[in-house]
Amino acid sequence: MVGMTKRYRIALVPGDGIGREVLPPACAVLDAVGARHGIGFDYDPFDWSCERYAAEGAMMPADGLDRIRHHDAILLGAVGWPGTPDHVSLWGLLIPVRRRFRQYVNLRPIRILDGVPGPLANAPDVDFVVVRENVEGEYSEVGGRLNRGFPDEMAIQEAVFTRPGVERVLEYAFTLAGRRGKDLVSATKSNGIVHTMPFWDELVAERATRHPGVAWRQEHIDALVAKIVLDPGRFDVIVASNLFGDILSDLAAAVAGGIGIAPAANLNPERDFPSMFEPVHGSAPDIAGQGVANPLGAIWCASMMLDHLGHPEAAAEVYGSFTHVLATTPVRTRDLGGTASTKEFTDLVLDAIGHW
Ligand code: ATP
Ligand code: MG
Repeated sequence: MVGMTKRYRIALVPGDGIGREVLPPACAVLDAVGARHGIGFDYDPFDWSCERYAAEGAMMPADGLDRIRHHDAILLGAVGWPGTPDHVSLWGLLIPVRRRFRQYVNLRPIRILDGVPGPLANAPDVDFVVVRENVEGEYSEVGGRLNRGFPDEMAIQEAVFTRPGVERVLEYAFTLAGRRGKDLVSATKSNGIVHTMPFWDELVAERATRHPGVAWRQEHIDALVAKIVLDPGRFDVIVASNLFGDILSDLAAAVAGGIGIAPAANLNPERDFPSMFEPVHGSAPDIAGQGVANPLGAIWCASMMLDHLGHPEAAAEVYGSFTHVLATTPVRTRDLGGTASTKEFTDLVLDAIGHW
């Protein structure tokens, strides 16, 4: 396409391990589809990672968030490495970004794609979205440890649910369900958790009155996970608290054929700060550096980023390209039972761009 090019500044945080191998394919796909739609990308790389933590004692510099707050979006590969405790990469990078940039929606689309083997590959029409509350709830710093080392030792962990924090993620979920035209399920556990979950349920019922066109119901989390495994085709939008949404989205990714293909978006719906797009998989130290990582999760993230930036046609073209490759060729990376390298698979997706 000729004419005006709209340019975006993207903060690239490849992170550790295969995070560094899956972002270049995602960028190559963005550039290819962007060239067809008059969209350009300027990538600013940041070396924030466990490797940096090992060398300098911090995942990112003290002013790290200020350096990326004016970017249009953040693409993140994966952070985590053996020897660095998980809480370092979480609390040293991911959680501050999500919280300070008000990325209060974690969106995880779950689809069983034609040509992807999985435990439920024969299940028809699996196409749902988990909307996870991303900044408050069970993952809070409130609490403490008492009587360390004594017989009466204890740990207390408080969950924090605020009315505005719950209302805004519910509003997002109900609006999404209204747009998709199907229904919404709220994950709860108000039969066992006596303060926060009844509060969550009340706010869901309240919010539902503003979206009379959306059919909704609530399910206890224990029953819900069983139903997702037994009958995933019956779900459309599932909204859940931070902890429940975390568990649901990994379960759902596994149901859909593996962690290597699953994308996630950490969205700031108000757009006053950048949103962050990251594949669900980790740094996979066992295969890092071999050029065999599956780039699909990251490429799907690129599609979600395009959608968020206001380019649904370009987003659909990326999605159409990789689903076409999966449906019409046997080329797969090792995690999906094939022998292809990251580059071989990426090249096929690049070839398909603009044709599907
Ligand atoms: P983290 O703690 O960072 O989440 P993890 O070890 O829990 O990492 P992942 O790295 O997400 O888990 O994945 C588990 C395994 O699945 C990896 O060790 C790797 O073998 C495989 N895997 C994950 N992602 C991919 C991918 N994109 N391509 C190929 N294999 C993958
Ligand atoms: Mg993991």
